[in-house]
Amino acid sequence: MPRIPMKKIVIVGGGTAGWMSALVMAREWIKKGFTINLLESPEVGIIGVGEGSTPALKMFFDALGIKEAEWMPECNATYKCGIRFEHWSTRPGHERYFHPFSAALDRQSLPIFMHNVQARLRGADLYTHPDRFFISSRIAKQCLAPIAPESFPFDVHYGYHFDAVLLGKFLRKKAIAMGVDHCYGHVIEVRQHESGDLASLVTDKGDVIDADFFVDCTGFIGLLLQKTLKTPFISYSNNLFNDAAVALPTDIGEKIPAETVSTALKHGWAWKIPLTNRYGNGYVYSSAFCSKDDAEHELREHLGILDADIPVRHLKMKIGRVQEHWVNNCLAVGLSQGFIEPLEATALFLVQQTVAIFAEYFTRGEFTNRHRDDFNQRINGHFDGVRDYIVTHYKTSSRTDTEYWRANTADQQDISPEMKELYSAWMQGKDLAAEVNRLKIASYYPAPSWYCILSGMGILPNAQQVRKPTAEEACFDMNALDEFLRRCTLNFSDHRQVLEKFGAAIEK
Ligand SMILES: Cc1cc2nc3c(=O)[nH]c(=O)nc-3n(C[C@H](O)[C@H](O)[C@H](O)COP(=O)(O)OP(=O)(O)OC[C@H]3O[C@@H](n4cnc5c(N)ncnc54)[C@H](O)[C@@H]3O)c2cc1C
Repeated sequence: MPRIPMKKIVIVGGGTAGWMSALVMAREWIKKGFTINLLESPEVGIIGVGEGSTPALKMFFDALGIKEAEWMPECNATYKCGIRFEHWSTRPGHERYFHPFSAALDRQSLPIFMHNVQARLRGADLYTHPDRFFISSRIAKQCLAPIAPESFPFDVHYGYHFDAVLLGKFLRKKAIAMGVDHCYGHVIEVRQHESGDLASLVTDKGDVIDADFFVDCTGFIGLLLQKTLKTPFISYSNNLFNDAAVALPTDIGEKIPAETVSTALKHGWAWKIPLTNRYGNGYVYSSAFCSKDDAEHELREHLGILDADIPVRHLKMKIGRVQEHWVNNCLAVGLSQGFIEPLEATALFLVQQTVAIFAEYFTRGEFTNRHRDDFNQRINGHFDGVRDYIVTHYKTSSRTDTEYWRANTADQQDISPEMKELYSAWMQGKDLAAEVNRLKIASYYPAPSWYCILSGMGILPNAQQVRKPTAEEACFDMNALDEFLRRCTLNFSDHRQVLEKFGAAIEK
């Protein structure tokens, strides 16, 4: 095995990416005698948005042995069963649909859903709207928590909503307790060895910090990998137009939904994320089609708070990814490696993937150029795979009410080859699950997600094009499925009450 070429790691950046990286690396390597230092600028704040996750965040906390009862109250966190999409499609009956996280019970209902969809694509008049097939959508709709009692042995997978700033503080506390050294300093110069490897960082106080390996978590600035090592940035702006956001909080009512709501607006979409003490809201839009002031006005109008004196935050977003995430002795993690607009809340998932996969290579002592290339290809696959799923929301939209939507739906030529094949397979009624496997895209988004988005948006033969199903096609009883899922849902408790058991003071 090659010699592991490092003993001292410096992470630059104290946002969520920096602290998540620190925790994973500390757990893996401090016991092996490494030192891990996290340096953050006292001048440049963290981005402080990003309040939704995928179920992967649960795995992150579970792997660190951090219980929900500990971290959730400290971060005003709630459970998330999936995302409800509103007004992305204008096709009758498809104005909204829910993209659920998976559940053990899907083993019963998913085959029915997939069977009906495939038959519908062949012209059979069968029920295909995804919301009726998944327990997660029912739990979310009824403001329940996705925590099954022990007497109900079918887990529901879930993600979380959380206050991004509080999560950062929590992770920092944990990382320091695990032995990560933390200091403040604004890096003004990055020194390199003749080989091109990074050698040391010079702060505005004159401190010189050297290390064997550097982790760039400097956010959109991309100080080490992009600015110093000149790694090219590949923009996704040819088919993802949104590059700005405006965010503001509103009050949360008595009920706490276990879902993110994403509502398509005139020049993008608005998120609504329930925390225990407030809703986080924001409008992700394209500055090529809409001014900052117009976006803020539209968001306030959408929320019914035109006259309320609530301060907003305006943000710019750089959408795309770096060409390589690991270059020489530097790994970029978080916004510094790339960002895909937050429609499916995937950024922290990509942080986790990057650090976890890097840790695999590291543990095996794999530090050759070939290993680096292999790693970069894997991470690029994840970024491009997530991008394709996000792009599908726009390409399947039937909105044409503004220039923004017309541009989004018209611009077909920028779809990746995999997506062209997948859409074509769908239109031909081929077995989509088999296509997802054949195209090797299941590890980015699995087949059920593709069935949900395409049938949820109503990319199906319409009422005039369908025929009576054959007996073989109509082999499932939807009323029986409804009754089965209704009874299963009775096992779940009110979301707010479950969160209150953690002992947090929850504002109403
Ligand atoms: C509008 C919007 C919505 C989002 N929604 C979601 C979501 O729902 N789910 C999700 O998973 N993600 C979401 N994200 C992404 C998420 O916010 C980020 O991935 C996450 O916060 C990680 O950010 P970061 O740590 O990479 O960068 P930042 O939080 O920007 O941290 C950068 C750090 O670098 C430090 N730094 C910068 N320059 C220097 C320097 N010269 N010297 C020393 N230190 C320096 C700063 O001090 C700071 O500590 C969203 C992002 C945006 C813009």
